[in-house]
Order: sequence, then structure tokens, then C-alpha cells
Amino acid sequence: MFGKGSLSLLEEYGGDSSDEEVPGPRVSVKRTYDSDSSYPSKRRLPVPSQFSNKNENDYVDDPLLHEGRVRSFAHERGNWPSYICIPFEAHMGLQNFLLAIKKIVPEYIELKQCNDFHISLTKTVILRYIWITPFVQSVQEYIKCFNKFMIVFGNAKVYCNEEKTRTFIGIEIKSGYDSLLKIVENLNHSLSEYKLPPFYEDPSFHMSIAWCLGDRQSELNDCLPEINSILETLKEIHNDDNWYIFVEYLLGKIGNKQFQFHLR
Ligand code: AMP
Repeated sequence: MFGKGSLSLLEEYGGDSSDEEVPGPRVSVKRTYDSDSSYPSKRRLPVPSQFSNKNENDYVDDPLLHEGRVRSFAHERGNWPSYICIPFEAHMGLQNFLLAIKKIVPEYIELKQCNDFHISLTKTVILRYIWITPFVQSVQEYIKCFNKFMIVFGNAKVYCNEEKTRTFIGIEIKSGYDSLLKIVENLNHSLSEYKLPPFYEDPSFHMSIAWCLGDRQSELNDCLPEINSILETLKEIHNDDNWYIFVEYLLGKIGNKQFQFHLR
């Protein structure tokens, strides 16, 4: 179906997922008794779904299940949270940087390490299940003409999500910006075919390495000079580590599936 060697379905995890399975936590919706005390002993019949304003797909988010993070989109059957990125394998220099940052930020900020390092090239968008195959083919078409290229990490920078519910410390990409921008323009074409939002108009390509809840931009920005001087020192000490990426493919994460889009 896809050009040989140019795209591969890496992994499908998550057990017995049927075609319309929703990625993410399963919720057991147990029938409960109405707690209305005026009818203590009567069990009410459930309201037929067509008369209820509760949809069977409604999902009550429990932020405790995912470290207090709040969903930015409704959890709905057949909707697959998806994004395209450049993956990165953490090295010793980066691990030491993370340890150092935790000692610099104020104690009341609970900083957590990001657990999959990557450079985002799209926002997290919601793909309908039936769109996955054509979307992947469209991305492959738009991406296949790009040559492999190099990106280099620069300074640390603070980012906040659009909902202002999480703040991130990231390392900005200092070279390779033009190639990234052209790729993003092409990915935006694919996204627009499915009426999905484009990437940021003024992208700041970066790799998030740590995050905390809430809008903590002001406090974290105050720490940036110290964070950046540590980063400079670590780049010198760990100069064998890769503070750059030779980009050979993009990774599409679509629900519980991963796709590689290889460059020329
Ligand atoms: P990411 O690690 O790619 O998820 O990015 C962390 C956060 O940076 C996201 O929640 C974005 O909303 C936020 N962000 C804020 N401004 C920008 C920008 N100009 N370019 C890219 N990401 C941004």
C-alpha cells in the first residue's frame, strides 16, 4: 500500500484493540443506584440513551490517573490523538541536565521529566479512525521529496501549552530551522485536507525535557540564565554526546500506532 522502504508501521501495542478501539484508559461504566434520598428503596430503571443528555461516549476525566494533566480534547470512541515528530534518544548529558534543573527550580514547583523525547512538527490533533490510512498516505506524499538533514540543539527555553495548564522546559533547535519550517508547511497541507489545525504560525522548534502543572512561565523564566549556563557546561563536558540529530525519518504517533516517514 505504501512506497517500499519509505514508510513502515512500527508498532501496534495495546493488546486486543479492535478497529474502532479508542486508545487510552478503559473505563468501566458500572450501573449505579440513584442516590436521591426521597426514593431510598426504589431502584430506578436507566433512562434510555436517546432521552438522556449523557452520551455513552462521555468520559469523566480523572487527572490523578495521569499526574494531574487535564485532557485538552474529549475522550471519544473512534478519535485518535495524533502528532508527527522527530524522536530523540536521551543520553547521559541530557540526564545530567535534567538532574541539575530539578535542583535549580523553586522547591514548590513539582518538575517532572518528559518521558518520550521528541521535537513536535504538528500539534496533537484528533484523527477519526477512518482517516488514519489516507492521512498517513497524504503525509508520505508530502514528505517523500525531503532530504535527510541535521538539526542542532541551542539554549533552553520555557513554553506553556495553549490551555495554560502545563509549563515546559525545552531545548530550542538552533540550526535546521529552514528545513523544519518547510516540512511543517507540507504537514500543514496534509492536516488541512482533514480540517485539522496547522502547527504554530511562528514555530519555536524544541524538545521538551521537563514539565510541571499550571502556568509557571514567570518562575521558570527567572531560572533560565542559570539553567542555560549549566547546559553550556554540560555540552562541553559531555561533548561526545549528540547535541544534534541527523534527521532520517519523521515519526507519526497515531493513537497506539506508530508510523515512520523516511526522508530521501
Ligand atoms: P511539545 O513538547 O512539542 O508538546 O511542546 C510543549 C508546548 O509548547 C506545547 O504545549 C505547545 O503548546 C507549546 N508552545 C508554545 N508556543 C510554541 C511555539 N511557538 N512553537 C511550538 N510549541 C509551542
